[in-house]
Amino acid sequence: MKLAWLQDRVHFLACVVAFCILMEPAAAPHRHPQDPAKPAGNRPWMNRNLSPDERAELVLKELTLDEKITFIHGNGMPGWGEPRPNAYLGNGGAGFVLGGPRLGIPMIQMSDAAYGVRASALNGRYSTALPSNIAAAASWDTQSACDYGSLIGRELRAQGYNMTLGGGVNLTREPRNGRTFEYMGEDPILAGTLVGNRMMCEQAQHVLGDIKHFAMNDQESGRNEVNAVISKRAMRETDLFAFQLGIAIAQPAAVMCSYNAVNGDYACENRYLLTDVLRKDWKFKGFVVSDWGATHSTLKASAAGLDQEQPLDDFYGAPYKQAVESGSIPLAELDEHVRRILRSEFASGIVDFPVEKSVVDVQSGLETSRILAERSIVLLKNEKGILPLHAGKLQSIAVIGAHADTGMISGGGSAQVDPPGSKEPKWQDEVWFPTSPLQAIRAKEANLRVAFDSGANPASAAELASKSDVALVFVYQWTSEDMDLANLSLPENQDALIEKVAQANPRTIVILETGTAVTMPWLDRVSGVVEAWYAGSKGANAVANILFGEVNPSAKLPITFPIGVADLPHPQLEKPPSDGVGLAAIMKTGEAKPTFAVHYDEGLKVGYKWYDAENKQVLFPFGFGLSYTSFAYTSLEIHEGNAVSLNFNLSNTGDREGVEIAEVYSTLPGDSGEPPKRLVGWSRVALRPGESKQVSLTIPKEWLSVFDETTNSWKSLPGDYSFHVGSSSRNLPLQFTRHFGNFYGERREEWLVAVRPLYYFVV
Ligand code: BGC
Repeated sequence: MKLAWLQDRVHFLACVVAFCILMEPAAAPHRHPQDPAKPAGNRPWMNRNLSPDERAELVLKELTLDEKITFIHGNGMPGWGEPRPNAYLGNGGAGFVLGGPRLGIPMIQMSDAAYGVRASALNGRYSTALPSNIAAAASWDTQSACDYGSLIGRELRAQGYNMTLGGGVNLTREPRNGRTFEYMGEDPILAGTLVGNRMMCEQAQHVLGDIKHFAMNDQESGRNEVNAVISKRAMRETDLFAFQLGIAIAQPAAVMCSYNAVNGDYACENRYLLTDVLRKDWKFKGFVVSDWGATHSTLKASAAGLDQEQPLDDFYGAPYKQAVESGSIPLAELDEHVRRILRSEFASGIVDFPVEKSVVDVQSGLETSRILAERSIVLLKNEKGILPLHAGKLQSIAVIGAHADTGMISGGGSAQVDPPGSKEPKWQDEVWFPTSPLQAIRAKEANLRVAFDSGANPASAAELASKSDVALVFVYQWTSEDMDLANLSLPENQDALIEKVAQANPRTIVILETGTAVTMPWLDRVSGVVEAWYAGSKGANAVANILFGEVNPSAKLPITFPIGVADLPHPQLEKPPSDGVGLAAIMKTGEAKPTFAVHYDEGLKVGYKWYDAENKQVLFPFGFGLSYTSFAYTSLEIHEGNAVSLNFNLSNTGDREGVEIAEVYSTLPGDSGEPPKRLVGWSRVALRPGESKQVSLTIPKEWLSVFDETTNSWKSLPGDYSFHVGSSSRNLPLQFTRHFGNFYGERREEWLVAVRPLYYFVV
């Protein structure tokens, strides 16, 4: 309003002064059609002063049955069967929903966007590739998560999309899962906090946000036909807890239900998940969208709480309309689905701020990608301070590894981001981003001799290493949606390559480009190990900045690196039976049942909780990561009020500036049946050399509670609670034990609001 008034005045004055020479009547102030003071004609739902719920209700009243049906299903996806006649209306993304043009409600244009916007090559566009999601989780940084989401939100809109399908937060129960790189690690509080902050900021760009895959979609093997069998307590305290936190923080428009079944019912027709938990206990106000082809029924899915089928309309098109007309689905049930979709459209701003295509800001995207990668790279080993490299003190470096001269690997499947200028990659192509480690290292010091060997012939690589001051071996492990790893070993004989090079020159540093944990049989023979993950568009520069010490590494592992697969809760990955009914039958008939089960016997013991409970040694523990400086923890104090407040002292005892992620774990009373400890808080603290800071952390007491299946509520257990503070889940020098009474009675989910301040976690 004010702006319009000002423009009016300016126009008037300009006319007086310049005799209206420059300003034709056409330049008169442009009135936004959604200006609240002037609702456009007979569209009261365009009044922004009304709540999203009120606006949705007004639209709902106007819609015909046919129009309502268009809201609850997709219209196809390029490459998913024969295109429909209306395929031209799509934007080239994973799906689109028609919307209500008659009423000014835009179509929903969806794109996958796990670590960047997908399918830009197909559509002649460009997207920034950020470090993979597991990498982002290694930053433990809510502000980075927010920057990550904002960038993707902006690039989605620039490319004509108003809905993201990013936001994967399945816990890493099974590190061989080919999608581990798309998720945020093994701890629910870390993963949920980060995905929530990422999606909150993504949605702030006026796109419909999404969190997926709900739930227990923890392996790709037989994902459409597996039944995950798990207790409610284990589900609520682990996998679902990550979703719960993420949803509480971001309030995303959508939750995507997953392919698999949970305790007998497919996730997209699972009443417990979609109605009892999501709608009732968590008060989720958005809509549930099916994963692509994960809808199996009309009546059952609709009654269970599935709001939208994607990418087509097998169950939510004509059969749905017929079911409403025949009375087998009450109109009120359809209305509830549509209401949730409309409400989310208003709440996210996609109605008020329609997408206008533009050009993405390439340079700032690259800059963000590099910075996020630098905060994600984990220094795992640094013997005798071999790192950082001092360019002045070195004469020669060997850069070894397949593609280390030209690029770095990225994660595949629907998360795949296309490199600039590339052709559209085929499903499960290995895609290398043109970010060259060799060039980035050469650029560091003109006088350094930097030679390259692909490692194809380990003997020649070793020969080069023996003549160099330092050998940098870049190794990779490619992973993708729609596959699991057979084991956690590096593929392509790379272990043997490392052994050979390290034998020739013990000053060998291994740089890992992996999507999950890897085993390291050569660990004792190398001097340094750097986990760079899938490092994104500017990965090579980020790695070089870490190697040469321009950036002091601060990231910590969001997953445990086990010694070997024999130590996993399920040493053998469960696979579908060879005589299964076939994928197409499972996805389409509506009659198929899961063909095999994975029993989550480890229950609450996910990730480090498993290794702790089983007293297993690990290669690198959850929360581990080195810095070029050192930190000391002292003087822990605890105060109990409405929350638990912790104070401790953290000092930088080294000679350079650094950021330490200080971690807090809690051990619940002995009879709680809980694993030995759970992460309950952390703080990223920046310290100059010699500097000390008092670190204060507040832990919501709800995070110390357990889920009681009999009453379907969270409860506190009176008893002794220990708090452990330190630099990783296995290095916790400070400890404090305190007796707590019954700190709250049985509660349902109202406490969710308590987690929102988490956004301000960064010190
Ligand atoms: C994946 C989803 C993705 C969808 C659309 C499915 O195969 O599981 O994560 O969003 O495809 O591409």
